[in-house]
Amino acid sequence: MNIEQQLLEIMNQRYQKSIEACTESELYYGLLELSKKLMSLAPVITGDKKVYYISSEFLIGKLLSNNLINLEIYDKLDEVLRAKGKSLAAISEIEPEPSLGNGGLGRLAACFLDSIATLGLPGEGIGLNYHFGLFKQVFENQLQTAEKNEWIEKDSWITKTDVTFDVAFGNKKVKSRLYDIDVIGYENGLNKLRLFDIESIDESIVKDGISFDKNKIEKNLTLFLYPDDSDEAGELLRIYQQYFMVSNAAQLILKEMKEKQYDLKKMYEHAVIQINDTHPTMIIPELIRILTEEKAFSMNEAIEIVSKTCAYTNHTILAEALEKWPLSYLEKVVPQLVPIIKELHERVAKKFHDPKVQIIDKHKRVHMAHIDIHYGFSVNGVAAIHTEILKESELKHFYDLYPEKFNNKTNGITFRRWLLSCNRELTAYLDEVIGDGYKKEATNLEKLLAYKEDKEVLGRISGIKYEKKKELAEFVKETQGIEVNPDSVFDIQIKRLHEYKRQQMNALYIIHKYLEIKSGLKPKTPVTYFFGAKAAPAYIIAQDIIHLILVLQEIVNNDPDVNPYMKVIMIENYNVSKAEKLIPACDISEQISLASKEASGTGNMKFMLNGAVTLGTSDGANVEIHELVGDDNIYIFGEKSEQIIKHYEKADYSSKKYYKNSAVIKAAVDFIVGEQALAVGNKVNLERLYHELLSKDWFMTLLDLEDYIQTKDRMIGDYENQEKWQKMMLINIAKAGFFSSDRTIEEYNRDIWKLTQ
Ligand SMILES: *Cc1c(COP(=O)(O)O)cnc(C)c1O
Repeated sequence: MNIEQQLLEIMNQRYQKSIEACTESELYYGLLELSKKLMSLAPVITGDKKVYYISSEFLIGKLLSNNLINLEIYDKLDEVLRAKGKSLAAISEIEPEPSLGNGGLGRLAACFLDSIATLGLPGEGIGLNYHFGLFKQVFENQLQTAEKNEWIEKDSWITKTDVTFDVAFGNKKVKSRLYDIDVIGYENGLNKLRLFDIESIDESIVKDGISFDKNKIEKNLTLFLYPDDSDEAGELLRIYQQYFMVSNAAQLILKEMKEKQYDLKKMYEHAVIQINDTHPTMIIPELIRILTEEKAFSMNEAIEIVSKTCAYTNHTILAEALEKWPLSYLEKVVPQLVPIIKELHERVAKKFHDPKVQIIDKHKRVHMAHIDIHYGFSVNGVAAIHTEILKESELKHFYDLYPEKFNNKTNGITFRRWLLSCNRELTAYLDEVIGDGYKKEATNLEKLLAYKEDKEVLGRISGIKYEKKKELAEFVKETQGIEVNPDSVFDIQIKRLHEYKRQQMNALYIIHKYLEIKSGLKPKTPVTYFFGAKAAPAYIIAQDIIHLILVLQEIVNNDPDVNPYMKVIMIENYNVSKAEKLIPACDISEQISLASKEASGTGNMKFMLNGAVTLGTSDGANVEIHELVGDDNIYIFGEKSEQIIKHYEKADYSSKKYYKNSAVIKAAVDFIVGEQALAVGNKVNLERLYHELLSKDWFMTLLDLEDYIQTKDRMIGDYENQEKWQKMMLINIAKAGFFSSDRTIEEYNRDIWKLTQ
């Protein structure tokens, strides 16, 4: 039976209707059934060694369109449905977006699953099945409010399995159940994402917004990703979640080892565990505990086996993100791990006297990353500059002990989602111009360079950009009621809200432009400034920055002197689906983190691939983008990471100095607490942000502000020269091949996992 007949049969069985008569929603469920059936027929990827990618997040996004692409039936179905007056793109919108991740780290895990399967490598993701995921963001009175993000439906990609385990904590026991989501490679076989849940979950304990009783572990354990941890109960809940994840992971891995009759002594020949950031660190003491207590290995043997199996990826140098659990908390939640952790600590303490490399510090806090580094065989950073900073400063004391463990794996993105699926027009055009070899070997995109002076090709690429801008403008009009001019420059900053990412610096630029226009300086080129960002509910200053942006949106968009030249759009509830609409429509990609603080970034890569030009600091993967495209095709500004690291060492940065010395900076900062802003916004939020900027400004917003303003103005000016701009777009697309996550995964496999010899 061909695809059309199979779909007809499913629709007929489900709804006794023809395709023409079905609603988009009915068609979505029909296509879900069809895809699941086809995926179940795909060959399972097998091998003698498997990677287990353990992660607290998998930001997988909607799956229909991607799975159809990877099954190689998207185009055919698109054609069939179009002939019947239906739109596959519109049908794909029906799917609720899974809420299993927060930001870049979770999205990376999702891209990796796609690439692992595409390369035919045996590997699975292991994580948790959060019912309400990260919160859903709703704007009310220019403030972010949080609601539970319901996404699990009866009919979904999730398959309930009959695998259940007991997970024992110090004072309670829960029963877990495994749920699977199939991961189909692009023109390849099948792997799985394995998500654990508790059987005794109780969704009804969530009251207004996202609040719930944090002590009721048997009911709340898998309700939310990153539940509020601003009090002790919240911190304990995070530890319960982490142990629940790794206990299940350990049981699952050992069950497979047993089924395949592998010798546990050689576990590392059959399994490699990639620890994605510190959240899954307890897998190390947990496996050692099981091997010594239940499998009769000596402590020495168990440590050796586990150390040869586990590898750690570091995602950040921000101190607050490097987890340090009080030993007393671990004693409460997982007392069974405490003797193991103490043993691991003592072995380190005996060998090394440097206090900086100890596992338990003098305040009796357990440094999770230190467990990973001492008792894993690999430590990797996620971009060249990030790995260098780890080796030279942040983790220098460890690098001195174990230089052989350190390696770099520059992040990547899956082109299936971030080009083939989100920008079908550009994909089709690239196929036409350079052939479709780049889909399997991404560096083939460089073939496009041959056309960098070709007016026809340049015009077509820029025409596609214009179409995508019109689509985004329509979406914004429909969903947020704001009129957007597709002829304006689309300047986009979308990423989690954090002071180090410096959305506040972008906001200050917008204030500066607003004031300029009010004073009569009318710009030639209109610009639309887009933001999308969720702020952690307990992160006060991040909430205040969102408030400022929403206040600016109100002021700017409603001022008739100004709104022909600029508009501000804060996209509500930024997520993968929104990213897929925003990225293909972008002209200027904002990557303006304080140098040294953004480990890699992956948003920067998605934008580049879709023909946006980067405005960025020398940070994370921006540095590698810069090297690839050269000085002429990127706009780099601001102080370099070595300078920033020195500022922190010497504590010599003073935001007040910058404020006092520059009339431009002063005017922009003062606007935050000026009459106009206060007439629209809240005094408490705006004043708090103003004081933060002047008294602390820990991430040095004002340091780079003037350079940022000048560089951005120059960039917008260059947009006027369309010939030059279009050439930059083309070169950025052509050079994006390096950032395919297929390349990243090939490197993980070559250097760390060694799944195929
Ligand atoms: C890619 C992506 C991110 C990461 O963006 P950065 O700019 O690298 O921080 C975060 N959220 C979503 C939804 C993404 O798709």
